[in-house]
Amino acid sequence: MQELTHWINGQHVKGTSGRFQDVFNPATGEAIAKVPLATLDELTAAIDAAEEAQVKWGATNPQRRARVMMKFGALINEHMDELAELVSKEHGKTLPDGRGDVQRGLEVVEVCMGAPHMLKGEFMDSAGPGIDLYSMRQALGVVAGITPFNFPAMIPLWKMAPAIVSGNAMILKPSERCPSTALRLAELLKEAGLPDGVLQVINGDKEVVDGILDNETIQAVGFVGSTPIAQYIYGRAATNGKRAQCFGGAKNHMIIMPDADLDKAADALIGAGFGAAGERCMAISVAVPVGQETADKLREKLIPRIEALKVGPYTGGDDVDYGPVITEASKNRIEGLIASGVDQGAELVIDGRGFELQGYENGFFVGPSYFDNATEDMDIYQEEIFGPVLTTVRKDNYEDALQLIMKNQYGNGTAIYTADGDVARDFASRVNVGMVGVNFPIPVPLSYFTFGGWKKSAFGDLNQYGPDALRFYTKTKTVTARWFSGIKDGAALNFKAMD
Ligand code: NAD
Repeated sequence: MQELTHWINGQHVKGTSGRFQDVFNPATGEAIAKVPLATLDELTAAIDAAEEAQVKWGATNPQRRARVMMKFGALINEHMDELAELVSKEHGKTLPDGRGDVQRGLEVVEVCMGAPHMLKGEFMDSAGPGIDLYSMRQALGVVAGITPFNFPAMIPLWKMAPAIVSGNAMILKPSERCPSTALRLAELLKEAGLPDGVLQVINGDKEVVDGILDNETIQAVGFVGSTPIAQYIYGRAATNGKRAQCFGGAKNHMIIMPDADLDKAADALIGAGFGAAGERCMAISVAVPVGQETADKLREKLIPRIEALKVGPYTGGDDVDYGPVITEASKNRIEGLIASGVDQGAELVIDGRGFELQGYENGFFVGPSYFDNATEDMDIYQEEIFGPVLTTVRKDNYEDALQLIMKNQYGNGTAIYTADGDVARDFASRVNVGMVGVNFPIPVPLSYFTFGGWKKSAFGDLNQYGPDALRFYTKTKTVTARWFSGIKDGAALNFKAMD
C-alpha cells in the first residue's frame, strides 16, 4: 500500500507520528494508500519554516508572485487529466466531474494572475493642506487552509492561490480522506517557481487542526467542511485572535413554479441532485414544486430520468452518471436517513438502498433515491444528507415556498425555475441565501465574483475567492503623511478636521 507524506520545505516528508489513516478507492472499497496524521511537533516545525520563508515571499513584488500563478495555471492545464484521475480515484466522482473539480479551482488561479491590480491600496492627494492619505494591503504572514473531501482540487486551490499570491505562506491541511491531489498541486507549485516553505501541506486529523487553531504564528484560518466543525473552528480561531472564514454545510432548495419549463427543471434536478452522488455543497437536495398539478407533472418527469441513471466507478466510461459515496460509514448514514424518511411518513418513490454493482460488491455505492410528500419536520428535510437523495416538499403557493427556504437553517445556494421575470426578481431580492440561480440549478459564481453562503452555511466575514479573498488574506494599513517644507504653524493640540 502506498504511504503518503507531508509536503514541507518543497519536499515530500514521511510522517513520524506512527499514526496513519487508510485512504480508499470508494468504487472498490479497497484501501489504496495510508496517509500520515501529523503530530504537533511536525506541525510546529512546518509553521516555523513557513514563517521564515514568508518574509522573502511577502517582500517579492506582486507581479513576480503573479507570474508563479501564471506558470502554475499552465501546469495545471498540462496535467489536467492526471489531476482529474487523482481526484476521482480517491473521491469516486466521474472523470468529467473530476476535471470540473480541477477546472473550477484553476479559474481561481487565473484570477490570481491579475492579483496586483486587486492588491493596490487607495490614495487621496491633498486630504488636508499638504497632507496625503494612502492605504496599502499587506500580507498577514502565515495562514492556514483546512479543506473537505468533496472537492480535493478545487477547494485547496481556492485557499492556496489567493493566500499565496497576496504574499502569505500557507499551511494547507487537506481532507485526510482525499489527500493526494493537494500533494500533487504542491509539487506543481514548486515547479511553477514557488519558493520552498511558502506552501506546506500537513496531513492529519483533529489533533493537527486544533494545533493550527492554537498556534500563535498562524494569523488566519480559511475552513470549508461541515457546519458543526465550521462553527467549532470559527469559535476557537476567533478566541485565539485569528481571522476566520468557515464555510459549512447546506440544504439547497429549488422552487419550480407552475409556469416553469418542467423538462428543463427535471433535467436540472437530476444533475444538481445526483451529480457527484449528491456530495456537493451546492447540490439541490430539495425540490419545491408550487401547486399540486406542478408537483404531479414534475414527479412524472423525474421518475424515468432517475430510473435511467447509471451508477458506477470512475473507470466505467462515459455513460456513468455518478459514482460511489466517500466511505462505508457515509453509505450507512445515508441509508439510515432514507429509512428514517420512510418511518416518518415520506413517500419513498424510488429506493436506492442495497444497491450492488457486479464486480464492485465492496464499493460504497448508493442508488438514486427519490422522496415525494416530505414535510419540514422530517430528518430527511432537516439534515444535510450529502448523498444521491432528492426530496420533494410540495407547497401551494410561491410565498409558502419562499418561506420554507427562508426558515431553513442553511443558506448556501438556491434556485427558482419560472418563466416570470417578476417572480424571479422578487425571489432573488428577498431570499436569505448567498447564491441564487434563476433557471440555473447550481449557481456557483465564476471566480471573478465570490462564493459564500448565509446563515449556518458560513461563519465569519468575507467570501471565498475573487476580491473578497484578497481582502481576507491581507490587512490594511493607512498612512497620513505631511512634509513640513513650507508649514511652520507649530503644535496643534485639538483633534483637527482637515480644513
Ligand atoms: P468535515 O467537516 O468532516 O471535514 C472538513 C475538514 O475538517 C477536514 O479537513 C477534516 O480533517 C477536519 N475535521 C473533521 N472533523 C474535525 C474535528 N472534530 N475537529 C477539527 N477538524 C476536523 O467535512 P467533509 O465531510 O470533509 O466535507 C463535507 C462537508 O463540507 C459538507 O457538509 C459540505 O456541505 C461541506 N462543504 C461546504 C462547502 C462550502 O463552501 N460551504 C464546500 C464544500 C463542502
